[in-house]
Amino acid sequence: MSNPYFDEYENLEVHELMLKDRPRQIAYCNAILGNKDIFKDKVVLDVGAGTGILSAFCAKAGARLVYAVEASNVATKVALDLMQDNGLTSIVKVIHSRVEELVLPVSSEKVDIIVSEWMGFYLLHEGMLGSVLLARDKFLKADGLMFPTECTIFVAPCSVPSLFDYWQNIDGIKMDSFAKKLRTQKSTRPEITQLDPKNLLHEGVVLHWMNLLDVDMAELEEVRFKDVVAAQRGGNHQGFCIWFEVLFPGNEAVFLSTSPFAPETHWKQCVVVLPQDACETVDEKSPIAFQISMTRSASDMRKYNLEVELLDPNIEEHPVPCSCHMTKC
Ligand code: SAH
Repeated sequence: MSNPYFDEYENLEVHELMLKDRPRQIAYCNAILGNKDIFKDKVVLDVGAGTGILSAFCAKAGARLVYAVEASNVATKVALDLMQDNGLTSIVKVIHSRVEELVLPVSSEKVDIIVSEWMGFYLLHEGMLGSVLLARDKFLKADGLMFPTECTIFVAPCSVPSLFDYWQNIDGIKMDSFAKKLRTQKSTRPEITQLDPKNLLHEGVVLHWMNLLDVDMAELEEVRFKDVVAAQRGGNHQGFCIWFEVLFPGNEAVFLSTSPFAPETHWKQCVVVLPQDACETVDEKSPIAFQISMTRSASDMRKYNLEVELLDPNIEEHPVPCSCHMTKC
């Protein structure tokens, strides 16, 4: 049965984008091939195998058996050939199925390792993590491992020059009114863009952290966070920049970071832009109090509503210690 989400993954250009994302590739490659002692003789489940690249890494790392489970037609159109071309058909079993409907050939069998690249914009977009957790609960051995195993979402107040300053002078013409209308048009969606670290007014704080071995499905419904941060540099406060990082298990810590400080990935960062009248110029050490929520949309479980509320730093409790310039701190 056709499903718009899986149909999108039939477009090979989506896979091209992911496969050309070097930080993504390097992280998964190092995490899997750099841990051959962990993968040796193991049974692995690759949730959402796509072209099959991660399953191929696992086979090359010494896994005994890899189930490459993929819901879209890419399973039969691409992954099967990839295994054939790389001489991996005896190890990797490509299964064209949603993981929710998966029945493993040996029904009592559980897997040692789950590998998956499920992350979306601001981590949770696409809602694929739920499928991975379901697979974990159904198929992972009690002492099994998840690749990746932890994930963290960060948030930082920022400037968004591509939506503001950039438009002050286009070949000698002031285009601020156009920019204002452009921002209004875009205001129902966050901006996916790569920020220069100098556009961050703060290095970022942890908005949410999850251990994928024990996070509960219900925790994916809503994430709420409130904080007061002291600007670490002065500038135009025009939005909040959200990014994520995932950590893989193994002998040496391998991280995949989508931070503005890290090399650009196809996820870039997700910026919630403030309405014009909420933007202000802040000095170094100015307190910025805010609340942010990510709530799964009732009409589309693959999307979240992101809401940011600016709070009054005079009322909100500041963290201790606080480096803002208010006298009470
Ligand atoms: N592992 C591949 C593809 C990652 S993209 C790589 O790293 O390049 C995520 C893939 O998961 C897509 O191909 C999508 O079709 C698949 N997918 C998403 N949800 C799934 C589910 N519930 N069951 C099976 N496949 C799923």
